[in-house]
Amino acid sequence: MKETSVENRLKLLYSLQQVDLELQEIQEMKGDLPHTVGALQTRVDEMKERLDTLAATIKESKLTRERADNEILELIEKVEKYKGQQLSVKSNRQYDALTREIENAEQRSVLLQQGMDEAENRLQTAKTDSDALKVQIEELTAELKERQKELKSVNKEHEKEELKLRHDRDKITVRLDKGDLERYDRIMNAKGGLAVVPVKRSACGGCFSRVPPQKILELRKNASIHVCEQCGRILVSGTLTEPVHSAE
Ligand SMILES: [Zn+2]
Repeated sequence: MKETSVENRLKLLYSLQQVDLELQEIQEMKGDLPHTVGALQTRVDEMKERLDTLAATIKESKLTRERADNEILELIEKVEKYKGQQLSVKSNRQYDALTREIENAEQRSVLLQQGMDEAENRLQTAKTDSDALKVQIEELTAELKERQKELKSVNKEHEKEELKLRHDRDKITVRLDKGDLERYDRIMNAKGGLAVVPVKRSACGGCFSRVPPQKILELRKNASIHVCEQCGRILVSGTLTEPVHSAE
């Protein structure tokens, strides 16, 4: 059911504004907390992701080091074997072939040793970074928990009130003309959360500029919706601003 008379439309708009002001007040009491908690959570998540990457690097480096170590041991054994064989070969050709095998194995060992050193470096760096990061994560997680606790208690404190206000808001918006609601939202967004204002002492309750007497007379008739010429907010006359909560 939509309200048709301008007076009712204005009453509803004014009631909606009052409810929204109360909701804004609750949001202000919560302050930066919801945002702070969100930002902290994001940072902790990012750090944990980085920690996973470091853990993977540590694992990979250890594996590389171990594999190289094993292969180097195998190569040492091979070289020993070739050297033994060289003692019993019959021809120079066979002897030279074994010498080449020994050289190859030694070259391969040098490369493996380099790879091991690099893996060791990666491992140590990752360990250092990981340890530092763990401390940071611990600190930040403690702060996050503290802030979450605060937010929870603030939320709990205003829970009932907020729920009631949201309910009131829904009751008003279903009765409000769709065009009026869109207009209201538009002004709310443009004018810092204040869209419907009473005229007080011949001035706009939003920007405090003077409202011409003729316009005040028009306003009192509640025959059409007027806006402030300066700020564009919807003006309501004093007769409408008496408590009319949700106009039940
Ligand atoms: Zn104004």
